[in-house]
Amino acid sequence: LSPCKNICSLTMSSHVGFESLPDQLVNRSIQQGFCFNILCVGETGIGKSTLTDTLFNTNFEDQESSHFCPPVKLKAQTYKLQESNSYQPIADYIDAQFEAYLQEEMKIKQSLFNYHDSRIHVCLYFLSPTGHSLKTLDLLTMKNLDSKMNIIPVIAKADTISKTELQKFKIKLMSELVSNGVQIYQFPTDDDTVARINAAMNGQLSFAVVGSMDEVKIRNKMVKAHQDPWGVVQVENENHCDFVKLREMLICKNMEDLRKQTHTRHYKLYRRCKSEEMGFSDVGPENKPVSLQETYEAKRHEFHGERQRKEEEMKQMSVQRVKEKEAILKEAKFEHLKRVHQEERMKPEEKRRILDKEIIDFSKKKATCEIFQTQSFLATGSNLRKDKD
Ligand code: GDP
Repeated sequence: LSPCKNICSLTMSSHVGFESLPDQLVNRSIQQGFCFNILCVGETGIGKSTLTDTLFNTNFEDQESSHFCPPVKLKAQTYKLQESNSYQPIADYIDAQFEAYLQEEMKIKQSLFNYHDSRIHVCLYFLSPTGHSLKTLDLLTMKNLDSKMNIIPVIAKADTISKTELQKFKIKLMSELVSNGVQIYQFPTDDDTVARINAAMNGQLSFAVVGSMDEVKIRNKMVKAHQDPWGVVQVENENHCDFVKLREMLICKNMEDLRKQTHTRHYKLYRRCKSEEMGFSDVGPENKPVSLQETYEAKRHEFHGERQRKEEEMKQMSVQRVKEKEAILKEAKFEHLKRVHQEERMKPEEKRRILDKEIIDFSKKKATCEIFQTQSFLATGSNLRKDKD
């Protein structure tokens, strides 16, 4: 029904009921429930748990949620990441949630309507109110994660820095983020109902917050506040900190946009990269559009060809191996025969050498015998002569 060029507008003669569409969406959201996942990133003790508790006015670590309690509309879970000096575990965690959604989406029998969506819809990035430059680790982390999720920078424990210092720090921080090309989440200005406030808030980023579950009595009213020896900082007082602005922008005004951006921008980017990694693309050579079926067939064909090529290569390799083995065997056999032949040839020569030695020994023995015989004959002759005498 939007007034487009080629669509002619009709005036409705009676009530149709299109205006009930927002109610239908509200009813469906309330009945089905929805997931809104906030990831808090920042150093230990910076105030992440306190701020989440303050935001939702609850104590997440103590509370158990029942599966059967109808008023529960928001299922909140806290994930403790291992302390690490690297953004990689966070990147891996975000990707794992995208992958789980992608797997569900690719199922033949999808059940996305009751799927527990664990994708991160917004990241509250907690920064220390140092007044100095951003830490390299924070810059690096935001730079590497800004394409994976909506990042909103938050200056934690804003009560520990003076108002003028805080203002200066906010300006410095934003200019550092811009000069380093960090893409932080921008509140959308295309919806007339929130365009003005969102544009104003985009100009005031980031949010300087104070978190506290403690209550203090101020003008006969109990209010959440952080009390220290220097005074009381009221969490929900807009003159004291940006807590209310953050809650308003996060929950009341832009929760749906954060969910939408997560799906259409960050998840779709993950999905596109994954598909391209697997060789799928919307366009083929010469920028011609290709269907999934065509890409699948082309891939199958390519895979088949590659397999045949590999098989042929393996065949050639095994023939070559057999040839080499045969040559080695031939060589070994030839060497063996040569040795046997040599040994066989050596045998008669050895026998002859032994015989020659035996002949020489025999001749020596014979000569000794003859000498011995001659001597004993001569001795017998002389004895006979003596007897005659
Ligand atoms: P986490 O480790 O980042 O979750 O930090 P916690 O929320 O556990 O807070 C660590 C300490 O900082 C606690 O003692 C809190 O009471 C205190 N804290 C939290 N938020 C604030 C704040 O806004 N201002 C001040 N001054 N202290 C805070």
